[in-house]
Amino acid sequence: MAEYLTGIDLGGTNIKVGVVDQTGRIISKHSAPMGKPRTREEVLEKIYAATEETLRRAGMKADRIKALGIATPGTLDIAAGVVVSAANLPDWENVALRESVRKRFDIPVVLENDANAAAWGEYWAGAGKETSSMIMLTLGTGIGGGIILDGKLWHGFKDSAGEIGHVVIDYHGRQCACGNIGCLEAYASADSTVRRFVEAVKSGKSTNLERHVHEHPEEITSKIICEEALKGDVLSRKTLEETGFYLGVGVVTILHFMNPEMVVLTGGMIIGAGSMLMDPLKRVVEERAMGRSREDVRIAFARLGGDAGFVGAAGCALTVSGTSAS
Ligand SMILES: [Zn+2]
Repeated sequence: MAEYLTGIDLGGTNIKVGVVDQTGRIISKHSAPMGKPRTREEVLEKIYAATEETLRRAGMKADRIKALGIATPGTLDIAAGVVVSAANLPDWENVALRESVRKRFDIPVVLENDANAAAWGEYWAGAGKETSSMIMLTLGTGIGGGIILDGKLWHGFKDSAGEIGHVVIDYHGRQCACGNIGCLEAYASADSTVRRFVEAVKSGKSTNLERHVHEHPEEITSKIICEEALKGDVLSRKTLEETGFYLGVGVVTILHFMNPEMVVLTGGMIIGAGSMLMDPLKRVVEERAMGRSREDVRIAFARLGGDAGFVGAAGCALTVSGTSAS
């Protein structure tokens, strides 16, 4: 019987694939390096090979899989099952990804934006279980977002909803990678946190990492800053607390605008920073969010870590296969 689900999380560095049951429990998982594919066909072959390997590890053939979901970066046309464009993969424009994978495995396939899929994973099987509305922020190079309202992913009119990283928090502020000025992402992403830290050191602030910053600034990561902060480095700690403050400013806007039951935060930096980041964030919410928008709202860290993408992709496939497509 086709009772399991498969999720694929397509990244520029790795392809993560998992087989899960209908509650989101992981049966098997596998991560394959993307390497340096040169053509669209080579990317597709890597996706197929990683999926086949995961099924092999689960001891299953594709006929045990009810549906398959693919989480992918880039601009999507979800209804058409097409990746319109994605920066990190070669020749990856107007790719009919859903149809290609469906043909290969002969099972229903759905496509989902990677940030949305990760949010759905946390909602379905992670931190947001038993909520009805949840917003997730993913902090990495940038800040991705996913919105779940009344038990459904909110895609927006042209599948472009959830760009929470580009909420403007300072109209005259820092330059954002998107071209706008003062976006949340330009202050509070993992990369922006590193940038603020390096700037502070170069402007003369003292830290245990002083030499490292002056000699190899490109090696500084948010993980290193977290580690130093935990060891007692004052500037590292202050930098993370500022990130928490900026995130709080962004979360206040989210609460006012959407009044969700829960806000979930994820990303490598988040896991390390813990209360250094969460305490100032919650303080801002306490001080600035209006009336009932903050009442009983839960703000928490994600639970699934790097598995959220493929778990969520599988969950999206279940949602679709359980209703219309099959
Ligand atoms: Zn922006």
